[in-house]
Amino acid sequence: MKRLLLLATGGTIAGCADDRATLNNYTAGVLGGDALLAAVPQLRELAAIDVEQIANVDSADLLFEHWRLLVGRIREALAADPELSGVVITHGTNTLEETAWLLQLLIEDPRPVVLVGAMRPATALSADGPLNLYQAVQVALSREARGHGALVVMDGQIHAAQWVSKLATQGVGAFASPGSGPLGWVDDVGVHLPMASGSRQVPFANLDLPEQWPQVPIVYGCVEPEPLLLTACLNADVAGLVLTGTGAGQLSAAERSALQDWSGRRPLMLRANRCGSGPVHHHPGDERLGLLPAGSLNPQKARVLLLLASIAGCDGVALAGLIAQRQLIS
Ligand code: ASP
Repeated sequence: MKRLLLLATGGTIAGCADDRATLNNYTAGVLGGDALLAAVPQLRELAAIDVEQIANVDSADLLFEHWRLLVGRIREALAADPELSGVVITHGTNTLEETAWLLQLLIEDPRPVVLVGAMRPATALSADGPLNLYQAVQVALSREARGHGALVVMDGQIHAAQWVSKLATQGVGAFASPGSGPLGWVDDVGVHLPMASGSRQVPFANLDLPEQWPQVPIVYGCVEPEPLLLTACLNADVAGLVLTGTGAGQLSAAERSALQDWSGRRPLMLRANRCGSGPVHHHPGDERLGLLPAGSLNPQKARVLLLLASIAGCDGVALAGLIAQRQLIS
């Protein structure tokens, strides 16, 4: 029988409400991974599944330390057991895409690492967690999913870590991959991933994660943005900064001049966009300001890239080199 590792971190998939009709007023991260597994006895026919609890939190409360433990455990388990088919991670949906992208940049093994959550608590009428979990296991055990990197399985769709995003606050179909569409789907016939996996860059495959992580805030663009935020970040000597511009990542004249006038050390800076899809390209004035384009990464994923680049000791030139590998961020 195939072997699989299930790492539980909490979220709504492990959440409980007082009654079955309640979808929003519940506590996330209540049930342990064992209980999630026990709720889907059909999983026993698919694989021998070991369960470990990394955390049991609402994913808004996930910490860098949880990420460090998660990455360490995945690397260790894959290295120790060549017969392990893959890893499934249960996770809150709110920050699931950030963890998926983190793992995409850090885990080199071709075996599937699949993240899954639920939009309805485990106690709900028509809870989506059990089927999502079943399908995530199907994907993690499949030959088709090998080499694709970290995948997200929600509502029967299989998404790539780079593109996937939670785009709605309610509803089981809250996840999508704007700009690319899902990689594939899973149903009772099997796992459908029509695109070949191809070669994959894992820029931080050998990076050890520290206990103390650098500060990388996100500043959000809007009409007459408050200069206080940008200036405070620069004064705080943050390691990295994501500037979420309007449209195709455009900064206001005030923000550009605040950056231009800054005489201190410049953080690693990525210019992302707030549109929800579409790339940010290089702008001729960017070099002078120390800005690099975030491509199609949304602001929260751009931040993950900056966190890892900063931990790895990259300077602006090294980060530009990473970004120039189009495959990495498109
Ligand atoms: N609050 C939850 C979380 O992210 C939302 C969910 O899992 O759907 O943990």
